[in-house]
Formats: sequence, structure tokens, C-alpha cells
Amino acid sequence: AAEAGRDFIRDIVQADLDAKKHKLIVTRFPPEPNGYLHIGHAKSIGLNFGIAQEFGGRCHLRFDDTNPTREEQEFIDSIQADVKWLGYDWGNDLFFASDYFERLYEWAEGLIRAGLAYVDDQSQEEIRLSRGTLTEPGKNSPFRDRPVEENLDLFRRMKAGEFPNGARVLRARIDMASGNINLRDPVLYRILHAHHPRTGDKWSIYPSYDYAHGQSDAIEGITHSICTLEFEDHRPLYEWLLDKLPVPSHPHQYEFARLNLTYTLLSKRVLTELVRGGHVAGWDDPRMPTIAGLKRRGVPPAAVREFIKRIGVAKANSVVDVGMLEFCIREVLNQSAQRRMAVLRPLKVVIENYPEGQVEEIEAVNHPDDPNAGTRRVAFGRELYIERDDFMENPPKKFFRLSPGNEVRLRYAYFITCRDVVKNAAGEVVELRCTYDPATRGGNAPDGRKVKATMHWLPAAQSRLAEIRLYNPLFSNPNPDAANFTTDLNPQSLELLKDARLEPEVATSNSTDVVQFERQGYFVRDKDSTADRPVFNRTIGLRDTFAK
Ligand code: ATP
Ligand code: MG
Ligand code: MG
Repeated sequence: AAEAGRDFIRDIVQADLDAKKHKLIVTRFPPEPNGYLHIGHAKSIGLNFGIAQEFGGRCHLRFDDTNPTREEQEFIDSIQADVKWLGYDWGNDLFFASDYFERLYEWAEGLIRAGLAYVDDQSQEEIRLSRGTLTEPGKNSPFRDRPVEENLDLFRRMKAGEFPNGARVLRARIDMASGNINLRDPVLYRILHAHHPRTGDKWSIYPSYDYAHGQSDAIEGITHSICTLEFEDHRPLYEWLLDKLPVPSHPHQYEFARLNLTYTLLSKRVLTELVRGGHVAGWDDPRMPTIAGLKRRGVPPAAVREFIKRIGVAKANSVVDVGMLEFCIREVLNQSAQRRMAVLRPLKVVIENYPEGQVEEIEAVNHPDDPNAGTRRVAFGRELYIERDDFMENPPKKFFRLSPGNEVRLRYAYFITCRDVVKNAAGEVVELRCTYDPATRGGNAPDGRKVKATMHWLPAAQSRLAEIRLYNPLFSNPNPDAANFTTDLNPQSLELLKDARLEPEVATSNSTDVVQFERQGYFVRDKDSTADRPVFNRTIGLRDTFAK
């Protein structure tokens, strides 16, 4: 394994291999298909698939599809697409916990026969209340000592669909006084008359997470079952079940710290509510921390992998600065993205001494650090657009861009000087009258005269109209409140620019490659684009302007 990516879990794996505990390392990524994957899942994916890759083992993709009321085929499909997009491959190792329902059921009957499980008629609320607290032991259920035959009969009738939802549960018979609340007779099965995306209406009872998870690991021969810290207290139950059941292997559970990010909430409940409540345009809204959102925003998978590598794997929870993710995105895109010019908020410029009707072509470099990226031609004529922010009628001292009487360079083209300002009835500047110096073609003056600003521009006639979507953090609070997240939503998370201008090839190309619009940031074509109206998303700005 690479030293760079070393962490305590990889150390355990290495030690187990050295001690010849396992011939082959088998890990798994076990999403519940009740939502889209997010960047936190990417950490788990990177860890599980990464370990399999580095140690020559295998990583299973297993759907933990044990709760049909919240699970959908759309989520199963999106999860597979997103794992692939991240660059990982489960080969033939695609599994579903629901494929084990029959075996899990048989094993549950075995627990009943061994006196290790019972059917409890108490309500969910009664069970919760009799669980006790950290300082107080729980109370035994009045049904705890039901005879085995009665338990078997009731459990079979639960399976046959005889009882309504919530009427009964199957509980493990462990210890209501245990110091670990998870061992106080945890629920193994609940009645749920629900259609399952894979098993249809076959089952009226479904296994709990705790019951299904470890046994699925054991059936699949998982050697290292890696999960997040909140399952640390479930480990004794994981072990108990493996000990009591005739499982074909005995996996071990290891816990690591989940990813938390500033300005971000990574809870499926919150993400689901953001979508359902219409706070975002869907699971793949570019403001979402989902893999689908990052993808649509133009974030390259290599940047996500780099981020996962940099944050590492630790045993203590912490919050990672979202700036770290942004840094990784810029690192990757700075290398890969070709440069183009785009004017986001256009202001018309008329070059008065440029012949009417004349058009020339200016050569522009596609990537400053990569000569192989070549050049392209941009039309230059009498009417142009510049960025509205690049002009000030009454500039302060340090403003070097365009202002009345001031000379600047238009990137790759000429020096121009602002001669006059045209305003509309409301007093807003709508056009600049300028002159150019024909001797400065290419951007230098033969007399050695200097200008202090170089600005991007586009030709008025040959550029294309586009909609640009600028994204800011979805939450304005660095530490958003998950319980009350709507109050922390950033009202400026999406800024729409409807009359931006693009180079024509950018506008018409169907490429999903990210481009750098010079001086503006990185942008990618959005799926909402139409033939005559391209839409571009800002993946990220050039510099960190937020959260400073
Ligand atoms: P829920 O919100 O329903 O608890 P979840 O986010 O835990 O869902 P799962 O589908 O159960 O989603 O997660 C699949 C795997 O991803 C689990 O092993 C889980 O521990 C891991 N995972 C989930 N969130 C994070 C996170 N923020 N950081 C690291 N790993 C995570
Ligand atoms: Mg879960
Ligand atoms: Mg979870």
C-alpha cells in the first residue's frame, strides 16, 4: 500500500495480512438506497474500494435494502452511476441484502428455537420507554418469557402477513440491564406491509439494520466491515449475532470518523427534505453536496479523489473546511481546463476609429501552461462587449481598468481608450465610445507605452447569448443547524445571469469538459442547455472569495 495514504484501518489490514489472518481482503460499501450518494459517502467509497485496490482484494457494492418504505429503484441506479463516476469498479460483486431475506429468516427461527429471540406485542413506544437510559437499566417485556412454540407460531404468522404494521416485533433476548443499550433486547424484525423494489410484496416483515448488516457481511465473506463511528456501540451486538448464528464467516467491524464539511449538511434526511421541499432543483442541483450535484457542477472525479486522500481517515470526528475541497477542484481544473473568454455582465463598447463592417481574427491561447492545447481564433470588430465591472465612470485611485480617458489592453487584441460614455434615460451607462491603437495588435505598443490592466472581451455580433448560473454555498452558516436547516439557507446561493456572452464554439459545443472563462472561474455546460440557449454552471471561482 502507498505510504501516503496510510491510516489506522490500512495498518490493521496490513497487520492482518502479515499475520496471515486472511488470504484475500474483502471490504464492502453498503449504501441504503434511500437517497443519492454525497461527498461523505465518497469518503467511505474511497476507503473501502481504495483498500481493496491497494491490497489486491475485492470490494463489494452491497445495497442495504431492508427498509422498503424509503427505498427506490431511482436511488439504486444513481448509486451505481455515482460509484462508477468516482472511478471505482465492483466487477461482479454487486449484492443486495434483500437476496439474503430467506436465510436471515431461517436464522431468526433458529434464534427463537435456541431461546435467544421472542415476539414482543408491545408498541414501539412501550419498547422505547422500557429500554431504560444510560444510568437506568431497562425493564423486561411481559412477553420476554413466551414459550418457544408460541414465538415460532407468532413469527410465522408475522411473516404470513396476518398482523398489521407495528402489531409485533421480533426481539433478540440478550440483557435488559446491559450497560450497552444496543444489547437491551434489540429489535430484529418489524412488520411492514410495503412493496419492496426487488422482492415485491413477498415479505410482510423486514429485518432491522443491526440484524441484516453483520449477517450480510458474514454471508459475503467480508473480512473488514468498515463503518462510521456512530456504529461503535453497535459492535457488541454485531459480535453477539455472529456468535449465535451459524454464519459461514466471522467479519470484524472497524469504525472511522464520518466526514463533516463546513457550510454543508451531509444527512440524507436533510438532503431529502431539501429536494422534497423545493429548496433546490433536485438531487443533482449543483449546490447539493451529492455526487450527482458535484458532477453537474463540473467537479472532476479526480478532485473528489484527491480531496478524500488529503483528508485522510481518523478515529475522531472533526469538521473539514469546505475550502479544502475547493482547493482540490481548482488544482485539477487549472491543469485540465482550456481557457476561453466569456462576458458575464456585458457592457457594449464601440471602437469609433475601427472601420465599420470590418472583422479580423485574433489568435488566442487555449492553455497558458500547455502549448499542445493550441490556439483558436476570436473575431474582433467595431462593436464589442466588456465586463460591466471592468468600467467605472468615476473610479477611485487604484482602479486601473477602463474609465473615461484611460487606456487598457484587450486580451490578445489591442489597446483601447475610453472617450465617451452613453447613458439611458435612467442615467445608467449603456455604451462606451472608445478608440483603439492599430499599432498595438497582439497587445504591445511599439513605443513601449504601458497599460495597467488587461481585460477580456468578446465581439458583439459573433458572440452568443447564454445563461450563466453562479453558485454560492447553500448555507450561510459555517455550521448549519440540521434540526432547523431552513433558517440557515443562503438566500444568495444561486445567482442567474441571463445575458452573458460566450465564444461561439463554446456556446454550440455539446462538450461537458470544464472550461476556464478567463478572470472568472471554471464553468461547465448544464443539461438545461438548448440549441439556442446554452446554460453554464460555475463550477468554482478562480480564487477563494468566500469564508475568509
Ligand atoms: P442515513 O442518513 O440514513 O443514516 P447514511 O448517510 O448513513 O444514511 P448509508 O447509505 O447508510 O447512508 O451509508 C452507506 C455508507 O456510507 C455507510 O457505511 C456509512 O457509514 C457511510 N457514510 C455515510 N455518511 C458518511 C459520511 N459523512 N462520512 C463518511 N462515511 C459516511
Ligand atoms: Mg444508513
Ligand atoms: Mg447512517
